[in-house]
Amino acid sequence: MRGELEVAVGTYDELSRADQYLLDQAKEVRDKAHAPYSHYRVGSAVREKSGITATGCNVEVYTYTQTGHAETNAIANLVAQLGPEIELVAVAVVGGSESESMAWPPVPESGAVTLEEMAFCCGNCLATIGEFVSPAGVKLIDVFRGHICQVMFANALPVSFQKRHLMGE
Ligand SMILES: [Zn+2]
Repeated sequence: MRGELEVAVGTYDELSRADQYLLDQAKEVRDKAHAPYSHYRVGSAVREKSGITATGCNVEVYTYTQTGHAETNAIANLVAQLGPEIELVAVAVVGGSESESMAWPPVPESGAVTLEEMAFCCGNCLATIGEFVSPAGVKLIDVFRGHICQVMFANALPVSFQKRHLMGE
């Protein structure tokens, strides 16, 4: 049984210029990923409420456990730019096997994308996003077979332990 997961599916052209720019940045930094073991390259771009953005890519380490994820690296770069009081409003992720070609701007393939094939941020990255979530929430934007999929952070991790529990909110 699966609960209601609100995912919006659309096209690149339907995005705002700010969200297109964020996805473009994620795609660009993906090319810099260090993924010699998984061959799965991920780029992420994050936007703060001020409009300022930062990027990160996955950086694999031969010990595996020290591997850095694109989203957490992007957030660390944003904190390095602006300090610890950042409030995230959007996180874009572009990932996939390095053997797959990816048209850009993305062109939707025929057929609907399914929840099973969607891969938004991992639980570890979601928790890091949760550390800096803005009061208005954080929009997660990802690309699957050329379709743009969006889900709000609160819907991506609905029943998990979150910062508000620790803060008594
Ligand atoms: Zn992750």
